[in-house]
This record gives sequence, C-alpha cells and structure tokens, in this order.
Amino acid sequence: KFSYPHRVGFGSANPTGKIPLGLKRKGLRIVVTGGAGFVGSHLVDRLIDRGDKVIVVDNFFTGRKENVLHHFGNPNFELIRHDVVEPLLLEVDQIYHLACPASPVHYKFNPVKTIKTNVVGTLNMLGLAKRVGARFLLTSTSEVYGDPLQHPQKETYWGNVNPIGVRSCYDEGKRTAETLTMDYHRGAGVEVRIARIFNTYGPRMCIDDGRVVSNFVAQALRKEPLTVYGDGKQTRSFQYVFDLVEGLMRLMEGEHVGPFNLGNPGEFTMLELAEVVQETIDPNAKIEFRPNTEDDPHKRKPDISRAKELLGWEPKVSLRKGLPLMVSDFRQRIFGDHKEGSN
Ligand code: NAD
Ligand code: UDP
Ligand code: UDP
Repeated sequence: KFSYPHRVGFGSANPTGKIPLGLKRKGLRIVVTGGAGFVGSHLVDRLIDRGDKVIVVDNFFTGRKENVLHHFGNPNFELIRHDVVEPLLLEVDQIYHLACPASPVHYKFNPVKTIKTNVVGTLNMLGLAKRVGARFLLTSTSEVYGDPLQHPQKETYWGNVNPIGVRSCYDEGKRTAETLTMDYHRGAGVEVRIARIFNTYGPRMCIDDGRVVSNFVAQALRKEPLTVYGDGKQTRSFQYVFDLVEGLMRLMEGEHVGPFNLGNPGEFTMLELAEVVQETIDPNAKIEFRPNTEDDPHKRKPDISRAKELLGWEPKVSLRKGLPLMVSDFRQRIFGDHKEGSN
C-alpha cells in the first residue's frame, strides 16, 4: 500500500504541523474545483493527508501551481487544467466546487465570465454529480446577504442584494448557484451541501488581490501606509483558513444540506483590523484613508449557531493567532526569505 510521508507543504495553514485528528481516513475519489486557489489548496492538503485520491480542476485564473506543487509525484494527486464553464467527464465520489474568483478585484475584472463560472460552471459540476451519483458541495458566500438589514446574519435571512451593481456578478451569481444546487437536489435527488463562507484569510492568499487583510499585511511588510477605505468603521469577521477547511469537511461528511454559515463571529472594524496588523507587523505603520468602493456592505458577522449545533463546528483560531501565520508566508513570498524586511 502506498504510504506518503506527511508534509504540510509551503505556506501550510496548519498551526500544529501535525495531521489533524477527528476525521478518519476514507480513501474516496474527490474532485476539488478551484483546488489550486487559496482555500482549495488547503482543503486538498487535508484530503490528501486523510488518504483520499484528489483531482484538482483549475483554470489558473487566480490559482497557482505553487499552491499544490508539494503534491506533485503523489499518485493520489492529479491536476487538470480545465475551465468549469466547459463540460467535464470524471468518475468520483465527492465534488467540492470552489472554482470562482473570490476577491472583488478578480471577480470584477471580467464580470460576465464570473457569472458564467457561477452559473454554467456550477450547472456542469451538478450535471457531473448527477451522472455519477457524487455528493456535491457548493462554496457560496456571505455576499448572498448583500448589505444586510439583519445583524448578525442567520441562514434564514434572504439578503439585501443589488441586482444591477458592480458586485452583482458575484453576489447574484452565487445566489443562482445556490438555486441550481437546490433544484438538482429536489429535482434529480443529487446529494448536496451548501456553505456560505465569510471573509477568510491565511497563507497562500493572492498578495495583490485587493482584499483588506492581504492589502494591509503586504502594505505593512513593504513599509507602505495601510489603505483604509471610507471611514474605516465598516465591519467584517475574519476566519482563519484552517478553521474553514475543517468546517467544509464536516459539512461534506455530515447529514445536513445547509446552507451553513462558516465564519468567525469575531467582528472588527477596518480601523481595528489595521491596529491588529500594526501590532503584529509594524507599530509605526501609517494609515491612509481612501474613498470607499460602490456597494460596500456596512457590516457583516455570521450567526454560526446552526453549524455549531448540527456540525459540531466552530472556529478555533483568533485573528491575533492566525495573522502571524499568514504574515510569515507573505514575508517569504514578498522578500524571498525570513530575514529581509522582518522587524
Ligand atoms: P481563489 O481565487 O484563491 O480560488 C479560486 C480558484 O478557482 C482559483 O484557483 C482559480 O484559478 C479557480 N477558478 C476560477 N474560475 C475558474 C473556472 N472558470 N474554471 C476553473 N477554475 C476556476 O479564491 P478562494 O478565496 O480560494 O475562494 C474559493 C471559493 O470560496 C470561491 O468559490 C469563493 O467564492 C468562496 N469564498 C471565499 C471567501 C474568502 O474569503 N476567501 C469568502 C466567501 C466565499
Ligand atoms: N455535464 C458534465 N459532466 C457530466 C455530466 C454533465 O459536465 O458528467 C454537464 C452537461 O454538459 C450539461 C450540464 O452538466 O451542460 C447539466 O447536465 P444535466 O445532465 O443535468 O442536463 P442536460 O445535459 O440534460 O442539459
Ligand atoms: N478595505 C479597506 N482597505 C483595503 C481593502 C479593503 O479598507 O485596502 C475594506 C473594504 O472597503 C471593505 C472591507 O475592507 O469594507 C473588506 O473588503 P474585502 O475586499 O476584503 O472583502 P469584502 O468586501 O468582499 O467583504
């Protein structure tokens, strides 16, 4: 039997360096679309560690080969360059469907392509799930709540989304992806799971993706001012990627369709986040205010009671604990080693 030495890999999010216990070895054939991206690659690490056979399907729009390079040569790992907007024939047991640009900079770059990825891409992966009888998990987003009128957001909230705004390709795309998922479940009996992911950070995030945590960390490391948009009083809740992956796997293995909010309920204003980045990287980092973007949600915080109760899941890594792990990965990628630029 093939036994692969445990490697957490470059930029691993695993704070312990050990194989996490709790989820037993299954040996399933699993597709991870978007598996060369930030969240997907950490999920792939966990599935490979568990002993599954993993096929990553990615068109490398925002994903990078480097994120999964440490699995090359492992017979349990396969990487296919493929755009999910095109049909795909595979034989698998489970499909984690993550393929979709996630940061505003990337999803606004080609909005029509973002909608196609969410709608046609999700349709294809559901068609695949139906044909082979695989279980399908959709990574939806807290953005389906739009600029929420309910706080914190529960899964029963239907959202307050602008259908014609610059974020709509993503928000409405994901809402349609959820609808398709439920219609394949009800109409074709496909086993489905829906996760609504809240803002997530960690090693392997794209450095210049314009998201607030990656911006602040890269700016502080490069000795540039931290750019706070608007008055900086808008809030977000930041989840460490390792917690998210645990939640996604529990959801896939569990009995409940969802949707489930997966996020860290710790709520921070952007100014508070800037302070945590200053404490972690450079107390002298300056703050610069910039005009805010259109349609920016004022606040966002998950109610995770449902995931706690039905999946036995809650985040374990606080922002102050998780941020340093991301900082060392960014430092290495920006400067190439641990010495230059360190404080
Ligand atoms: P990411 O951009 O790092 O990863 C997305 C991956 O999908 C990339 O590898 C990209 O190359 C691939 N991809 C994009 N379009 C594709 C296509 N048409 N065909 C094949 N591959 C394609 O983003 P991420 O942060 O890892 O997000 C993963 C998923 O989680 C996304 O579906 C995103 O909407 C969802 N999500 C993420 C967050 C977050 O904070 N990171 C929050 C909510 C939801
Ligand atoms: N599909 C796919 N792989 C498969 C099965 C289906 O990519 O293994 C695609 C198929 O090309 C179609 C979509 O999934 O565009 C929906 O498939 P389904 O069978 O549900 O619908 P239909 O083909 O009847 O439109
Ligand atoms: N933001 C900021 N400075 C930046 C990038 C973003 O203040 O350099 C703000 C942005 O206006 C928003 C919040 O941070 O209010 C979160 O933005 P992000 O793009 O990370 O996530 P999303 O808006 O998708 O939740």
